[in-house]
Amino acid sequence: MPELPEVEILVRHLNPVLRGRTIREAVVHRAKSVRPDTAERFVAGMVRAKILQVRRRAKYLLFDLETRSKTPTLLLGHLGMTGRMYVQPARASLPKHAAVSLRLNRGVFVFEDTRYFGRMTLDASSLEKLGPEPLCDQFNGHVLHKGLRKCSQPIKTKLLDQGLLAGVGNIYASEALWHARISPRKLSRRLSSTQCDRLAECIRAVLRKAIEAGSTMPLDFSGGGTGDGLFYYGSTSETVGHEENLNVYDREGEPCSRCKGMIRRIVQANRSTFYCPQCQRG
Ligand SMILES: [Zn+2]
Repeated sequence: MPELPEVEILVRHLNPVLRGRTIREAVVHRAKSVRPDTAERFVAGMVRAKILQVRRRAKYLLFDLETRSKTPTLLLGHLGMTGRMYVQPARASLPKHAAVSLRLNRGVFVFEDTRYFGRMTLDASSLEKLGPEPLCDQFNGHVLHKGLRKCSQPIKTKLLDQGLLAGVGNIYASEALWHARISPRKLSRRLSSTQCDRLAECIRAVLRKAIEAGSTMPLDFSGGGTGDGLFYYGSTSETVGHEENLNVYDREGEPCSRCKGMIRRIVQANRSTFYCPQCQRG
């Protein structure tokens, strides 16, 4: 499932490709993918709009549009579990699971989604409840400590709360806790301010490192690829992978690279958590 680093990488790829292009025609191939908009309203909002830029907020792609009547409009994209967004040549045929396609003045933007959990919509209300961006200056240990003060959920579960912090998902929550040497089972309100400072720094560091890793890989945004490891996009080369950058995620039974203890997998709030019980105590 794509997380913040993958969305950031995709935005960095799409922005220069889409900036300044005009949407000639919009086709909704699957009505569910533009909900709560109707296909008609979505198409009406898109046609002849100009794409000013593509940005990211949490795991959302934000397309800043300017409509025919010069009205600024925000189009939200979310990859869900299996979504892909890319530009293909005008004459190429659309993939089987195309959910939305936008014919541009050059090329066709495709939103493809095999499991249909992703979205493209003009309804921006889901942005309202989001907490701070982990990579922005507004986020630090103090903000985290304040957010956790009254919470009796385990810290790993709470880190996935997008109102606390926007964009941290299952992989990087486990990784950041390992780096900070904090047990994923520790109750959120029991974290000291020193631990919160360390955790905030580790969250930023794991996300930055993943973005950096993704930026240096030759990626295939339209395909699954074979050498992609745990990085969401297909790699165009089989020799590189992101997997080796992860210390605990999906490494149950392997030795911890820090203390040689054995990595465990537990289930918290129906999600897998990976950690080292030996160096993440408490
Ligand atoms: Zn360990």
